[in-house]
Amino acid sequence: MTTRRWLPATGFAAVLVLAVVLATVTTANAAASARRSAYEDAADIAAARIASRIERDIVETERLAAIADGIPSFRRAASPRLAVLTEMSAIALARRDGARLVVAGTVPVDRPPLDTGVDLAARADLAVVVTRVAEEADASAGAPFTVDGRRMMLVAAPILTEPNAPEAARRASITGAVVGMIDIGALLQQWWPGAAHLTAPDGRVVGAPIDGNVFDGPLDIRGRAWSLQLDAPTKGIPSSALAVLLGGLLLAVALTALFDAQIVRRRRAEGQASSRLRQLERIAESGARLQQTLDLAELLPAFAVGLAADFDLRSVSISVLDAEGELAEAFATGERGEGDALDLPLRRGWRAVGILSVRTGRTLDESERTSLQALADLLAVAMSNAQLYEREQLNAARLRDLDALKNAFLGTVSHELRTSMTAIMGFGELLSDAWDNLDDDRRREMANRIRRSAGSLRHLVDDLLDFARLEQERLRVSPRAVDLAGIVRQTVDSLAPLLGQHELVLDVADECQAWADPVAVERILANLVSNAAKYAPAGTTVTVRCAPEGDAARLVVADQGPGIPPEERRRIFARFYRLDTPESVRTRGAGIGLAILRDFADRSGAAVTVDDAPGGGARFTVDFPVEPVSEPLEGTVAVAR
Ligand code: ADP
Repeated sequence: MTTRRWLPATGFAAVLVLAVVLATVTTANAAASARRSAYEDAADIAAARIASRIERDIVETERLAAIADGIPSFRRAASPRLAVLTEMSAIALARRDGARLVVAGTVPVDRPPLDTGVDLAARADLAVVVTRVAEEADASAGAPFTVDGRRMMLVAAPILTEPNAPEAARRASITGAVVGMIDIGALLQQWWPGAAHLTAPDGRVVGAPIDGNVFDGPLDIRGRAWSLQLDAPTKGIPSSALAVLLGGLLLAVALTALFDAQIVRRRRAEGQASSRLRQLERIAESGARLQQTLDLAELLPAFAVGLAADFDLRSVSISVLDAEGELAEAFATGERGEGDALDLPLRRGWRAVGILSVRTGRTLDESERTSLQALADLLAVAMSNAQLYEREQLNAARLRDLDALKNAFLGTVSHELRTSMTAIMGFGELLSDAWDNLDDDRRREMANRIRRSAGSLRHLVDDLLDFARLEQERLRVSPRAVDLAGIVRQTVDSLAPLLGQHELVLDVADECQAWADPVAVERILANLVSNAAKYAPAGTTVTVRCAPEGDAARLVVADQGPGIPPEERRRIFARFYRLDTPESVRTRGAGIGLAILRDFADRSGAAVTVDDAPGGGARFTVDFPVEPVSEPLEGTVAVAR
């Protein structure tokens, strides 16, 4: 990452540095050529001075050669000269001995190769000067040679006994020579501050090869052409170039830093944009997953597994707050206990409805955390939709059931009405048409049948009216202090026709005070007795009891029928509910009697319980309060609500 970030900036810096170097070189070149033209005159002067110095040294050796006839006089004359001729490092007097030219005396005494006794003619590097002096009788400057690492050059003048004789005699009169050793390197340095390169006629050189950018020409020394090159002194990098270099480098550094900062900013922006895009894709993908189903059992696993894959999560757990406000895990995937835990609230509006807990396998950045929270919000909405959908499904199913029950109810009611009406009308017509042909017993029987059917009809109509009031929430009771025993006796009397085929056992206390509405008591009792008559086989006993019981007035109706299974004892009080038993199938009923009973009991503050009668059969117990109560007494019905 760091390397990639630096690459463009490094390239940019390289280009800038190259430009700076070029500018510096250009500036340096410009400065150098300006300097060269400034040095050109000085170089001409220096070349002339160098030539004239060597010429002067030759002249001085000639003078010494003319006056030096013995060692002492030579030394006397040479010492003061040596002190003045700064570039001359030694002067020697040499004697000719045949072909040899032997050093006889030196000033100073210890300057090789001018040590006393040295044969100069034996030295190959001095051959040029020795030949010209010893054989041609001519003063000369010789090609450079090296002594102690320094470049030296000999100047020499012949000692002649016949200097003015014709050529041949003059040559024959050579007895020796005066030889001067010039430190030619020092001489060049003395007169030229820059690099110098001197080439002797025989090709030997002083100084390293150079351009000769301010002087490149011949140097005439005693009629022979030497060659001299001089370069303008280099003073290192000129200050203008240095300024350009420094300024340029600073600018390059600043621009590179700026460029790098730009790159960093752009990369960061690109990184953020691509991360945002990735997050949006993840949200869109998970969002789509959440839309795929409204079934929580499918939705939670699909979401959790997808989320774990998208965000590289070790585990995902979804917990939901239940009705008691306790967190209950609805779904979990992955291995718990590994990675960093992150709990994200599942919110509906501002209310938390659960928690999405994840464990991450790596550190999530800020935008990933924000995305996870956004997905948690989407999940909360999807879960809420799924729950709403589930509730709607249940409601729809309940409404469908209710519809079916209502249809069954209408069918039953019409059937009941028609049956009772048919019986009443049939027996009525028979009585009126065949009155005279019937004996008293037959007439009484038919009248009783009409009475029973009318009783059934009345009971049904009462139920329907009560039910209609119950449905419209208009069922009213007005409890007051009553004698429950008296009401029970009266009601049972009026219900006698219903119990024509059963044996009635009435066990009622003389008096039983209760806080109740007589109409409600009557309807409750009527329902219980008619059910007992309906569901218990003919010939069995129906028992009705009424007596004070603790702080209640208790009414009990028990029969010897099939009884009611414990698991059904709550449900029978629901509207339209009928047991699926042979007795229920055999008998007619709308399934609203006990629902009405329950409502009357509730409004009276009475508690109803159902259990088995001793010896089998159903036993209904209704405990009425004996004084006004705010809370209903505890019983099955109250619990069932
Ligand atoms: P209905 O009697 O019109 O069907 P109810 O609301 O009075 O409606 O009773 C509901 C159901 O409870 C009945 O269908 C019947 O299955 C059951 N049930 C009520 N009383 C008795 C009883 N004494 N013995 C057996 N089953 C009973």
